[in-house]
Amino acid sequence: MVYEGLIAALRGAGFGARLREGEPMAAHTSFAVGGPADLLVTVETPDELVQAVCLAREAGVPWRVFGSGTNVLVGDGGVRGLVIVNRCARFSVADDGTLRAESGALLSQVARAVSAQGWAGLAWAVGIPGTVGGAVVNNAGAYGGAMADRVRSITVLNEGGATEEWDVERLAYSYRSSALKCDPECGRTRIVLEAVMALEPGDPEELAATVRHTEEQRAMRVPAGCCAGSVFKRTLQYPAGFLIEQAGLKGRRIGEAQVSPQHANFIMNTGAATARDVRALIEEVQREVYHAFALQLEPEIQYIGEWR
Ligand SMILES: Cc1cc2nc3c(=O)[nH]c(=O)nc-3n(C[C@H](O)[C@H](O)[C@H](O)COP(=O)(O)OP(=O)(O)OC[C@H]3O[C@@H](n4cnc5c(N)ncnc54)[C@H](O)[C@@H]3O)c2cc1C
Repeated sequence: MVYEGLIAALRGAGFGARLREGEPMAAHTSFAVGGPADLLVTVETPDELVQAVCLAREAGVPWRVFGSGTNVLVGDGGVRGLVIVNRCARFSVADDGTLRAESGALLSQVARAVSAQGWAGLAWAVGIPGTVGGAVVNNAGAYGGAMADRVRSITVLNEGGATEEWDVERLAYSYRSSALKCDPECGRTRIVLEAVMALEPGDPEELAATVRHTEEQRAMRVPAGCCAGSVFKRTLQYPAGFLIEQAGLKGRRIGEAQVSPQHANFIMNTGAATARDVRALIEEVQREVYHAFALQLEPEIQYIGEWR
C-alpha cells in the first residue's frame, strides 16, 4: 500500500514531528513485542484524534487507535496502515462528583489524582497501567471495582466520522467485556473520545489509606516485567491462574516467553520473545488446561496485526 498522500496530509496538518514510518510496535506495547506499524502518529487532543482518523479515512488507509498497548499482543508482522497512539490526557471533576476524562488519560493517574482530591470510587484502579479508553473498552477492574460501576456515558467517534453520546447501558458491560470489545472493528471504526464517570465525596485520609493498600497488594501480586497483565479471563468456577498452576504450567517456556513462576495467569517476555512465542505459549496453556480440566480458557488480551 502506498501512503504518500496520507503522509503529506498528516505533515500538512502539523503532525510531522509525531509521525513515524515503520515504527516497531514493541516500543508501544507492554509485552514489548510486535512488528512495525506502517505509519504511527501520536495525538494529544480529541480534535487531533478526530483529525488523524478523518485524514486516514480520506486517504483510504486502514487505521487503529491504541492506548498504552497493555491489553494487546501485536503480531511480529506488525500493523498495516496508520496506528494512532492516544495521549489525550485531560480530566476534571465537577462539584457534584462528575468526572470527565479524555480517553488517552492514564486510568491510574486519574484514580490517584481524584482520590487525593477526596473523591471516592476509583481507588481500585490505582496501578492499572492503561488509558481510560482502553479501560472503557475492556471494562477494566480490580479488587472488586470495575469501570462498569463508574461509567455513566461516553463520547464515541462513529463509523461515519460523527460524535455520539452513548449511555452506559449501550456498552452492555460484562466481566472484562463490553459491546465495543465484542465488536471486531473495535479500535478501527468506533473510538472512545471521552468518558463520564460518577464519583462520591470520600474521606481523604481513608482514600489515601485505600490507595496505599491497593498499591501494596499489587506490588506483592503483579510480577514485574514485560507482560499484558492477566492473559485469561477467570472461568465460571475458578481463577485462570489457579487452573494453570494446577496443570503444572508455572514456569513453562516457549522461546523467551514464560508462564510467570510468580503468578500463573501472567505470561512474561523474559528478554527477546517474539509475538509468535507468546501466542504459542498461550495456545499451549489453553490446550493443557483443557486436557486436564475440560475447561476452555478465554484470552482477556486481544490479538492484533499480522501473524505470518
Ligand atoms: C502489569 C499489568 C497489570 C494489569 N492489571 C490489570 C488489572 O488489574 N485489571 C484490568 O482490568 N486490566 C489490567 N491490565 C490490562 C490493561 O492494563 C487494561 O485492560 C487497560 O485498561 C488497557 O488499556 P490500554 O490503554 O493499554 O488499551 P490498549 O491495549 O492500547 O487497547 C486495547 C484495545 O482497546 C482498543 N482501544 C484502545 N483505546 C481505545 C479508544 N479510545 N477507543 C476505542 N478503542 C480503543 C484498542 O484498539 C485495542 O483493541 C494489566 C496490564 C498490565 C501490563
